[in-house]
Amino acid sequence: MRHLLPYLQDDQKAADYLRHLRWPDGVTCPRCGSDAVTSRERCDNGLQRFNCVHCAACLGQQFAMFTDWTRSIFEESKLRPLEWVLVIGLWQLKLNATDIAAAADIQERTAQRCINLLDGGIYETYHLNPTRQLEHQVEADECYQSAGSKGLPREVERHDRAPRPRGLQLRGRATAEMGRPPILGLVQRRDKTDPDAPAAQVYLEVLENVRTATIKPIIVTKVKGGAQFFTDEYNIYHFTAADYDHRTVNHGAGEYARRDPDGTCVHCNTMEGIWSGLRNFLDRFKGISQRFLHLRVVRYEFLHNHGHLPWRQTFEAAVRCIFSTTGDYWRRMTHQHRRMPLTLCYR
Ligand SMILES: [Zn+2]
Repeated sequence: MRHLLPYLQDDQKAADYLRHLRWPDGVTCPRCGSDAVTSRERCDNGLQRFNCVHCAACLGQQFAMFTDWTRSIFEESKLRPLEWVLVIGLWQLKLNATDIAAAADIQERTAQRCINLLDGGIYETYHLNPTRQLEHQVEADECYQSAGSKGLPREVERHDRAPRPRGLQLRGRATAEMGRPPILGLVQRRDKTDPDAPAAQVYLEVLENVRTATIKPIIVTKVKGGAQFFTDEYNIYHFTAADYDHRTVNHGAGEYARRDPDGTCVHCNTMEGIWSGLRNFLDRFKGISQRFLHLRVVRYEFLHNHGHLPWRQTFEAAVRCIFSTTGDYWRRMTHQHRRMPLTLCYR
């Protein structure tokens, strides 16, 4: 986090740094996009005010003001720019709300809201980005994460059942309804022949269930046709034979990796490694709610995919993603007080 030190001196420096990441080519009006803007005096918390000449003319007013945070995720936040820079740095260290609250000296409830905003911003921009596709050699696998209706008494009531019993060992293919939502993992293996290739790129989607009808649209959207596609023997993946070079390992028969005659290594070990990393990460949240599971998962996805970059570049990539949304997703999610459809993008 050392590179943040110059921006942690005061709110103005922090606001200037964040503004530079939001508008690297100069400030434009968040309402009309015009670059005919003039700087005005700063707000008390160090944010810069601007006047948009174009908007003012349209509205027939002398001024049409906006600030560094207008129409961004941070717009309604009471945290100061300096605190946000610190919180984003701690968020990137994969800390939970309790640890962020202690380290940044803010209320735990505030820290909780901050990580939901940041994770939600990454979900809405990075995760749902339709241009992000996996290719070449792709492994698919699923895992099951215990997550209940924590903090949602109404949800428990609606289903007319007792709260989820903790630590219950369920066998077989679990579903979200059973309190163990499946997570579908797709990973593009790192190209070992290219020393400059980025880390293995992963795509993680929290699901209601693992039926073919649920996973098929996701795989078709996220994996480029013609890719080599590696899975276990589970029959939900059989539809992929038409579009992909589909090869399976038979875990049931004790086969975990093999080399095909054409030299291709058939296994799902990259994905297995990612699962253990993800479980480790999710354990920090000590009983995770289904409502927030996809937000935590997407933070892991983002940080894993940027893991090969220097810390500063990852920080700045995250901030740019977060500034590219207005935070509507998160506002809808909190105002509706119910779980959003998990596969939002495919409906
Ligand atoms: Zn404007």
